[in-house]
Amino acid sequence: MVNIFGSLSEKKYSWDKLGNIEEGRPDLGDSLPVEVYRQLEFSLMEVLQKRYGAETANEIFKEAGAIAGVEFTKHHLNTNASFKDFMTDLYKILYKMKIGILNVEHVDSEFNEIILTLADDLDCSGLPPTNEMICDYDEGFLEGILEQYTGDKYEVTEINCWANGDRICRFRCKKL
Ligand SMILES: [Zn+2]
Repeated sequence: MVNIFGSLSEKKYSWDKLGNIEEGRPDLGDSLPVEVYRQLEFSLMEVLQKRYGAETANEIFKEAGAIAGVEFTKHHLNTNASFKDFMTDLYKILYKMKIGILNVEHVDSEFNEIILTLADDLDCSGLPPTNEMICDYDEGFLEGILEQYTGDKYEVTEINCWANGDRICRFRCKKL
């Protein structure tokens, strides 16, 4: 009989669960077309929307993004660095991993409000316009990163998006 709790706990995500790509894909390597990432994202979103409705589906994506953001930060970033150094390192790793090109447009001294932009965004850049902000996963991802760095909860809201007719995605990050 399957131990449902055992199998559920095994599904807890951490960066280590992504495996040894170098060993496992000696011929194909660690890169793949953006379409493959979007294929997973869009097909999963369709199922979630059908089952739970658009609002809940978006919330699920955002929640998943936050989990990823926390793990990403743990694995790739130094949370003891100054804000400037942290954001510089974040810019570098997001660029290197081809997730997007980060810019910090605004930050106040208490980190209460931070405005970030992502150009060449993995999730949405180049999509046909649908008059919506669609980067729920990115919102959560940034929430997880900021929470892991500052120790505070953030509400991240996308205020410009390629899918809404803009050329970059812009995120307002408010400390709660
Ligand atoms: Zn977007």
